[in-house]
Amino acid sequence: MNGEKDYKGIIEGFIYDYPVCEFYYLEPRNLIFSDKVRYICEHECPHYGQSWACPPAIDAIDHCIEECGAFEHAFLFTSVAEVPDCLNFSACLEARRDHERMTLELRGRFQEHFGKVLALSTGCMLCEECTYPGAPCRHPEDRLSTIESHGILIMETASLLGVTVDCGNNMVTYISLIFFNA
Ligand code: SF4
Repeated sequence: MNGEKDYKGIIEGFIYDYPVCEFYYLEPRNLIFSDKVRYICEHECPHYGQSWACPPAIDAIDHCIEECGAFEHAFLFTSVAEVPDCLNFSACLEARRDHERMTLELRGRFQEHFGKVLALSTGCMLCEECTYPGAPCRHPEDRLSTIESHGILIMETASLLGVTVDCGNNMVTYISLIFFNA
C-alpha cells in the first residue's frame, strides 16, 4: 500500500505543474486492447505509412501489446484546448503540438523517477516533415507512437473509465498514456 502511496505522491509532486486536465492511475489490464486496431490504422488513419512512429514502420501489433502489458502501471492524462474549428485538421495542429510537447516533458519526469517508461500519444510531430520512408528518423529516442498503434481502443477505454472527452463546442481533448513500473 505504501508503494502505491509513494508513486502517486511522486507523480502528484510534479503533475500540477503542467496543464493536464484529468489524470487516471491505471494498470494495463484496465485498457481495452485489440489486435484489430491495426486494420483501422491501415484503412482509416491518415498517419498510416507516413511516419517512423506509426505502422507499418513500428513493431508488429502482438509485440506492441506485449510491450504495454509488461509494465505494472499506466498513467492516463488529458489536455483540453479551444480551437477556431474543431473539425478543421490544421486548426487543431497547434493544440496537438502543445499536447505532444507536454507528453514529452512528462515522459522525462517519469523517467527521472521510475526509469524505463513507454509513452504513447497522438503521434510524432517533432519534424515539420517526417523523413519516412526515404531517410532514417531524426529523433528515434524522442519520437512517440500513437496510443492506437499499440492496439489500444482509446475511445472505448475512455468511455469505460469515464474520461471527459467532450468538453464542448470547438474544444479538443487529447489523451496520452505513460506506462511505468514503481
Ligand atoms: S522524429 Fe521526425 S523523422 Fe522521426 S518519426 Fe518523428 S517526424 Fe518522423
